[in-house]
Amino acid sequence: MKILVARLNHETNTFSPVPTPLEAFGPDGPSYDVEAYRENKGMRTAMSAFIDLAEEIGAELVTPVSATANPSGPVDEIAYRALCERILSAARGCDAVLLDLHGAMVARSCSDGEGYLLKRLRAAIPGVPVGVALDLHANMTEDMVANADVIVGFKTYPHIDMYETGVHAGRLLLNLLSGKSKPAMAWRRIPLLSHSLRSATFIGPMKKAVEAACAEEAAGSLGVSVFAGFALADIEAPCVSVVVVDASSKAQAQQTADRIARQIWADRNEFFYSSEPLSDSVARAKQLSEGKTKPVLLLDHGDNCTSGGTCDTMDVLEEAIRQGLDGIGVGPICDPEAVAQLIYAGEGALVTLDLGNKTSLDVINRRKPPMRVTGKVVRISDGYYTVTGPTYSGQRMALGRTVLLDIGPAEIVISERTHEPWDIGIFTCVGLKAEEKRFLLLKSRMYARPVFEPLAAALVECDSHGVTSSDFGLFKFKNLSRPVVPLDPAEKCKVEFISQPAAAPV
Ligand SMILES: [Zn+2]
Repeated sequence: MKILVARLNHETNTFSPVPTPLEAFGPDGPSYDVEAYRENKGMRTAMSAFIDLAEEIGAELVTPVSATANPSGPVDEIAYRALCERILSAARGCDAVLLDLHGAMVARSCSDGEGYLLKRLRAAIPGVPVGVALDLHANMTEDMVANADVIVGFKTYPHIDMYETGVHAGRLLLNLLSGKSKPAMAWRRIPLLSHSLRSATFIGPMKKAVEAACAEEAAGSLGVSVFAGFALADIEAPCVSVVVVDASSKAQAQQTADRIARQIWADRNEFFYSSEPLSDSVARAKQLSEGKTKPVLLLDHGDNCTSGGTCDTMDVLEEAIRQGLDGIGVGPICDPEAVAQLIYAGEGALVTLDLGNKTSLDVINRRKPPMRVTGKVVRISDGYYTVTGPTYSGQRMALGRTVLLDIGPAEIVISERTHEPWDIGIFTCVGLKAEEKRFLLLKSRMYARPVFEPLAAALVECDSHGVTSSDFGLFKFKNLSRPVVPLDPAEKCKVEFISQPAAAPV
């Protein structure tokens, strides 16, 4: 038996000006064939689980590609086509396909990156079973459901169950191959734009929805996945959805999907997030730090790297300095021009330069000049570090060339690449002692939390005006199907769930 296993991950923020060329898909671009295998074997990815399962049954493995990029703007056409082509051409002659996809990929000419890939795959190898593991923030489409046999999504956010999701999807597909079960799939989309700060699975409405999904699985469903969607995509429906794989019938699967969708719709208001003004957040952080020995975290979720943020908006730092905060450690600000200037000046040099606010944010109608700063170049680094924390533990990360600049009230890590604060390594790679700071300013929503919360006295969410702002009103959606909450009143939305018990499949 020959099984194709591949990984292609991108969450596309169509409003993000950060480009997504082929080189963005990995520290040194995508990995192919044996390198794709090596990159995943023994890691905690869904692809790694697929590899283990295929090896367990002694299958011949084909691993044409492993490509994963940080969230950013639409994928360059050449990159999208090249990566899909790798999978399509390797698929011929395979008995099964297992794909580790994100589910919210948009290419320049294709609003449904995964749906189009799966459709072409089915046309190329009709009748060959296809199993897919997806991120919890997938934007589900009819083409994805119609052209896969099994779809299973993560049940955690922050995501820590990628491997388990791979095992789940992979086992269902192998059972289909061996004739143990013949799963049917159904889905329901809800006209609800959720906010990623409300899609954490340890608290709130998403926790409840995932618990309901787990209860359905415990009661016999083969796989029940709740997808929060990724709202910062100007496509038809970047919305919440439920996908159910059931052993008995499509009608049964539809009933289960609708039962959970109904609950989510009833809880819809809890999926919204409303920000306080930035000046209030910073003032609150200042108050919270009084008398504390540990730093207070300022999480800038309006410029969140892992949602397509440019990592160079200066709103939070400017406000913090305006309010007199000091002892601030600032997580990576991406400014390759400043890095070049500072490296040219050298360690120990005193430099005045323009920092940040350099990427055009015309898409949200925003123009601000860079922040003029004067400071001392403390350290220059190659920007490599290895993750010691719980997410991507053991992986080597690259910030690009990186400089630590001390401007008095703040020590700022400035990097060549946009970079999520995955780990304390973002600071240690330039010798900054995070635990000695009064404040840590990080451009992050979720991923900084498992690492930095244990070090911190408190956490304050700060909404800067970047391309991942929590104010959906900033974004001009042209392709979004309306009505949809929270942009339109719920009463205007057409929401129909099949009656229970269901009379007929949909
Ligand atoms: Zn996600």
